[in-house]
Amino acid sequence: MKIALYPGTFDPITNGHIDILERGMELFDKVIVTVAKNSTKSPLFDEQERVEMIVEIIKKNKYRNVAVESFDGLLINFARKKRAVALIRGLRAISDFEYEFQMALINRKQDNKIFTVFLMPHERYTYLNSSIVRELAQLHGEFRTFVPPNVYARLKKKVTEH
Ligand code: ADP
Repeated sequence: MKIALYPGTFDPITNGHIDILERGMELFDKVIVTVAKNSTKSPLFDEQERVEMIVEIIKKNKYRNVAVESFDGLLINFARKKRAVALIRGLRAISDFEYEFQMALINRKQDNKIFTVFLMPHERYTYLNSSIVRELAQLHGEFRTFVPPNVYARLKKKVTEH
């Protein structure tokens, strides 16, 4: 069974992330969405909320070969523990390339049996990321088409609480 991790901060998960996840599901027997605690980025949603939103999407979309877990520490160690053969990353534009290239090579140095697989989303998502969605929500802009309904509702609530 070929298992892949799809690691990220997912603060929050967007339709761009879901596009990559669905492509990954076609390639691997199981994909584990791996939510990084990532305190350095000081996320808007805590780890548990980010995981919950993904669980809701897995249920709603009836994904059969997707799981979600959170982790803290070295990604490659978590990948080994899960017996993952690959890490899935999304590439939107050239601007993603430099950082992703560095991470992929560093991770390969840690374990050359774990491959990084880059997938490209549909063009409609190439300009989308979580931070622009958070900003739009905070500024009361329109962002409904960028995220699934459960994320939209949570984000609306979150910004009115703040
Ligand atoms: P990180 O903090 O690791 O960058 P993110 O949650 O921002 O985590 O992203 C996780 C992965 O999903 C990254 O590989 C990122 O390039 C990819 N990704 C994020 N948004 C999109 C999108 N709109 N289209 C394709 N890939 C995306």
